[in-house]
Amino acid sequence: MKILILTTFFVISCCMLRSHALPNQIVIGGIFDEKDKLLELAFRYAVERINNDRSTLTHSTLVAQPVWLPADDSYRAARDVCSILRTPVAAIFGPQMEKTANHVQSICDAMEIPHIETRWDYKLRRDAYSINLYPYPPSLSEAYRKILLALKWKEFVILYDTNDALVRVQTLLREGSFSVTVRQLEGEDFRPLLKEIRRSQQKRIVLDVHSSLIYTVLKQAAQIGLMGDYYNYFITSLDFNQVDLDEFKYSGTNITGIQLIDPKKLHHIVEDWKFGERRFARILTPDLLKVTTEAALMYDAVSLFAKGLDTLSSSHDVDIEKVYCEGDKTWQHGDSLINYMKWYGSPPQFGESYKMGRNFSSYSGPVIGLTGLVRFDRMGFRSDFELDIVEMDQNETLKKVGTWSLSGHVNYTKSWADTKGAVEKNLKNKTLIVMVAKADPYVMMKQDPMPLAGNDQFEGFCIDLIHEISLIRGFNYTYKLVPDGSYGSRDQITGEWNGIVRQLMDHKADLGIVDFTITYEREEAVDFSMPFMNLGISIIYKKPQKKAPSLFSFTSPFSPDVWLYMATAYLGVSVLLFILARMSPEEWTNPYPCVEEPEELENCFNLVNSLWFIIATFLCQGADIAPRAVSTRIVAGIWWFFTLIMISSYTANLAAFLTVERMDSPIEGAEDLAKQTKIKYGCKEGGSTYAFFRDSTIPTYQRMWAAMSSARPSVFTDTNEAGVERVSKSNGQYAFLMESSSIEFQVERRCDLMQVGGLLDSKSYGIALPPESPYTDPISSAVLRLKENGKLHQLKTRWWKERSGGRCTTEEKKDAASAAELGLENVGGVFVVMVGGILLACLTACCEFAWKARKLATDEGMSFTEELKKELLFIVKCNENSKPVRKKLSPADTDTSTGYSSSSTYDYSNGHNKYGY
Ligand code: GLU
Repeated sequence: MKILILTTFFVISCCMLRSHALPNQIVIGGIFDEKDKLLELAFRYAVERINNDRSTLTHSTLVAQPVWLPADDSYRAARDVCSILRTPVAAIFGPQMEKTANHVQSICDAMEIPHIETRWDYKLRRDAYSINLYPYPPSLSEAYRKILLALKWKEFVILYDTNDALVRVQTLLREGSFSVTVRQLEGEDFRPLLKEIRRSQQKRIVLDVHSSLIYTVLKQAAQIGLMGDYYNYFITSLDFNQVDLDEFKYSGTNITGIQLIDPKKLHHIVEDWKFGERRFARILTPDLLKVTTEAALMYDAVSLFAKGLDTLSSSHDVDIEKVYCEGDKTWQHGDSLINYMKWYGSPPQFGESYKMGRNFSSYSGPVIGLTGLVRFDRMGFRSDFELDIVEMDQNETLKKVGTWSLSGHVNYTKSWADTKGAVEKNLKNKTLIVMVAKADPYVMMKQDPMPLAGNDQFEGFCIDLIHEISLIRGFNYTYKLVPDGSYGSRDQITGEWNGIVRQLMDHKADLGIVDFTITYEREEAVDFSMPFMNLGISIIYKKPQKKAPSLFSFTSPFSPDVWLYMATAYLGVSVLLFILARMSPEEWTNPYPCVEEPEELENCFNLVNSLWFIIATFLCQGADIAPRAVSTRIVAGIWWFFTLIMISSYTANLAAFLTVERMDSPIEGAEDLAKQTKIKYGCKEGGSTYAFFRDSTIPTYQRMWAAMSSARPSVFTDTNEAGVERVSKSNGQYAFLMESSSIEFQVERRCDLMQVGGLLDSKSYGIALPPESPYTDPISSAVLRLKENGKLHQLKTRWWKERSGGRCTTEEKKDAASAAELGLENVGGVFVVMVGGILLACLTACCEFAWKARKLATDEGMSFTEELKKELLFIVKCNENSKPVRKKLSPADTDTSTGYSSSSTYDYSNGHNKYGY
């Protein structure tokens, strides 16, 4: 109940407090440039809107009193203001021109009449009776800085028309992370200046010109080629949204701007104007059918004035009096009115309002106008406002991509997917220039009896790869051979790039592809896609000639030293056995077991028998004698063990030595190359391999670089193909350092060459694009897709293996098959040894035969020739398998026909038993 009574009391007192102490008609003056019809239109309709909306100034009507002036006639401005003040008026709006505005402002200040402006004014001090709704220039400048930082611009050109621009862009000039060039646009033909900018390779331009000039500048920029995929513009004008950008929509240029109002949301204002003017039978010209930022600000200015006056009237009787410029009298409510307007623009604090004697309850909330929240800082500047960041877009012409506010900074609402989608869309149906260089099998000229032209001339791995990417991304392409044939290296003295890198930097191509290695240095100059191939530096060298197996290759399993040690061991063990056998009593045995008490004992292991026993067991054969004593058995056992191991090792190694044709290369890797001076080595001049050795900090590679760079004649070649040719012809005197993928291609086709050693580093090939190309991501993702679906692998197989590849593998297979069976060249030596042994045996037999014949001749008193003849006669009678013993017999016992004794008793005269021992 209590609450109800209190509320009723509060409402009644409020109603009582709100006296309607305002005249029925309140005149407000507007001063406009003669030519500025739009602002005057906005002023009139803003007033009409307030009059139609009865929520403010419920019992009074505003009357707009416009005055037109020539732009720079300050005398007339002063005269006309003084005449308006006599009307009388409650406030003066405008003018926009700086010169006249200053005069008007000082008169209003003197007469204490609120002066409301909506123009760009760089002055950092405002007069007491003046209020300006235009965004505060330092805040705008801060917005530019923040947006460019968010766009990651580092280096750009500022193009401006009037000197005011320098005030607007001062924060850009002061920002340390920006590298800025400032150029002024003069006259009407900006092409010479724009051409200069194009030559300077600048790709980012801040355009600070009047909105009426934006179209002309962009058009001329397009004419001289300063528009396209790689160019970015930032336009500072708040009326950028009024410019017709349709003809630049498909240029690929990235144009960003800002706006305080969204014209798309202000169609109803234009409709109001059209409708209103029809009442007076007036038709609006096309230039009046748009709401500019200043027009919108005029609406907000009138709203703010109405609110301020309304609030003032709630506590004061406001009468509007004539004031004379010549007199001393000022308007008594001017001060309060301007303060109420500023108060509306600043969120009120109760304590503050109380101190100022203001009626807090009369604050009806901030003014939210067409330009957003109308808010002022303590100094009376409109420093906090919200800007839309807009970008040129193929669908909507201008698309909002974010906002800026002093408190919230830059807030990008454009998603990554949006950006990606827009770039991919832009790439579709574009014709890209692809710069290539000749290199097998990446880019090759097609061999065709018919003359070929254009893209048809080329074939190779990279050509197929670009084709596959174009199918995914939907672009067309034209190949161009790089004029200097070089991939791209930086001159160590001038720092200038050449080759494909230079072409991309100059935007003469959109893509660069070949066996193009991604290096740190190149990455600094251009962009690279995801790698499409991984590799490393290696050595290509002449395959050593296969050595024909030697006749005595059966000796190869053991080195000559081992053979020598074995022979020594054989002799040593034989002699040892002989000595131990003589020492050992067990080895002295009864030669005739049937004689129980022998007079003599015999030892089997004389020197000859020892040698025979040891060699027989070494060759895994049996000998008729065997050791009996422990000592001799130990010697025999240990010899057999030795034999077992040696024979097994020999057998195990023998197969490999007989079948494998050894190919000994003088170098096994980069270390070997670095250590010697006989074999020269080099690489492709100006390529990434060249740069690798030049810049290496590893001692081995530094030594190699020193050797390469000082070699005369030069060891560097212009192309990899030339290097490979040189290796092939050098007969092992030249090795070439090349990337493993290219080596792989060469050794598949040139069977006289081989890769030596492993990889010296690890790197990749990529597709190069101009710096900051918008197409890097779509191309990269297409490469990834081709990698994942196996297409890249297929292409590699096609160009490495299928197209006349695999030649050497077939040859190797043939060689391997023929190596499986042993030829005479492998085992010929064994035959030689056998023949040698046979010859030796025959020679020995002849000697024995001759020696025996000579002995018998002496014993029997026959001549040596006669005896020899007799023995030979017996030998040739091959059917005689027994031979009588011949003794020193009397002639009577002698069989005259044969000369042999007829008995078969033993003949010990020669000191041998029946076994010949
Ligand atoms: N792929 C190298 C380059 O991009 C060329 C060949 C090489 O230097 O081995 O420069």
